[in-house]
Amino acid sequence: MNKNWLSFDKTHIWHPYSTMQNPLPVYPIVSAEGVYLQLENGNKLIDGMASWWSAIHGYNHPVLNAAMRNQLDKMAHVMFGGLTHRPAVELAELLVKITPNSLEQVFFCDSGSVAVEVAIKMAIQYWYASGKPEKQKLLTIRCGYHGDTFGAMAVCDPVNGMHNIFSHILPSHYFADAPTCKNDDEWQPEAITIFKNLLEQNHTEIAAVILEPLLQGAGGMRIYCPEYLRQVSLLCKEYNVLLILDEIATGFGRTGTMFACEQADVIPDILCLGKALTGGYMSLAATLTTTKISNVISAQPPGVFMHGPTFMANPLACSVAIASVNQLLNSPWQQRINQIEQQLFAELSPCASLPQVTDVRIKGAVGIVELKNQINMEQVQQKFVKLGVWVRPFRNLIYIMPPYIITSEELTKVTDAIVEVVTDNF
Ligand SMILES: *Cc1c(COP(=O)(O)O)cnc(C)c1O
Repeated sequence: MNKNWLSFDKTHIWHPYSTMQNPLPVYPIVSAEGVYLQLENGNKLIDGMASWWSAIHGYNHPVLNAAMRNQLDKMAHVMFGGLTHRPAVELAELLVKITPNSLEQVFFCDSGSVAVEVAIKMAIQYWYASGKPEKQKLLTIRCGYHGDTFGAMAVCDPVNGMHNIFSHILPSHYFADAPTCKNDDEWQPEAITIFKNLLEQNHTEIAAVILEPLLQGAGGMRIYCPEYLRQVSLLCKEYNVLLILDEIATGFGRTGTMFACEQADVIPDILCLGKALTGGYMSLAATLTTTKISNVISAQPPGVFMHGPTFMANPLACSVAIASVNQLLNSPWQQRINQIEQQLFAELSPCASLPQVTDVRIKGAVGIVELKNQINMEQVQQKFVKLGVWVRPFRNLIYIMPPYIITSEELTKVTDAIVEVVTDNF
């Protein structure tokens, strides 16, 4: 490869949400180990992002590496139509075991966005098979993020969702305001009024409500109280609407419980998982549902669920997912996330008194500093790298969700860097 490989990157490769005209610099990484990303120039960065929620055990993990190598020597991939394999079955068993009771049927796919597409199709096909084909709309809350494909885009926040230029060709769904209650102590029944009215007026055409439970990710990094979710769940039952929970970001311990919905004692009809499912090794996602829903879909024409990706249940991905979930279950993850949460409270909360900061939010192993103004990405990114940490803000949000294995000293480096960036740069 040519010495100028970075200039080839700059002129030929799209990065996420990037431009091809004078793109911001990208940093070359040659390897990664534990919580450290190794830059080509010899410097190391402490990763505050866990590669977008996924690398919960850190990088180059011996147990995860071994699981993948072991599977690699047997088979890397085989089609899932008409064939099956132990890694898929073992992973499905594990997911059924650790997710809330009554979620018993597992559909594997290759990315979070597709898991959301699958969930939406399941809900619509369920109502079709139930003799209610008019139930095709979705109801959600603003500031959500569910992925970049068309079905998922249509339930992302219409303004913040980064997809507004496509709005004229997207199916139109119902949006309630984002919840404002932060914890159950402040619960006021009016907090759910708009949502309730939308459901009351439109339930005959609504197939499902779709939400990220308790913590909204890329649509605004917002936290809301469990009581809101509890009320949503009750209203869904009252109005005969399915509840889809998107735990692609919140799943696998991130908010302090294995799944965020546990904090509200809510069990969805359909659950989407992704991101940390393989510990950040491979792209894999899953959509789980109840036997009731799968029975209805299967009992009526067309009698099959209409989806089946080429790389469905890829054995390499399933094997590393089994290792990752077991690694999590065998670790003191609750204690670790609790410690990270306490430390984030202690070290990020002081930012809240700065005039350029509008809010500091902490939930489990997630810390968010919301600023008044948009961030100058070029400056801020460079500054973080200079300080030896990898933090990637967007809009006016500086946020972190580090690997669970981060030590308290390493986390302090990350939070110190955030405090310094916030203090200096505005
Ligand atoms: C990241 C994310 C998705 C999309 O997952 P991809 O694997 O990027 O397609 C969907 N929902 C939520 C809540 C996410 O955080």
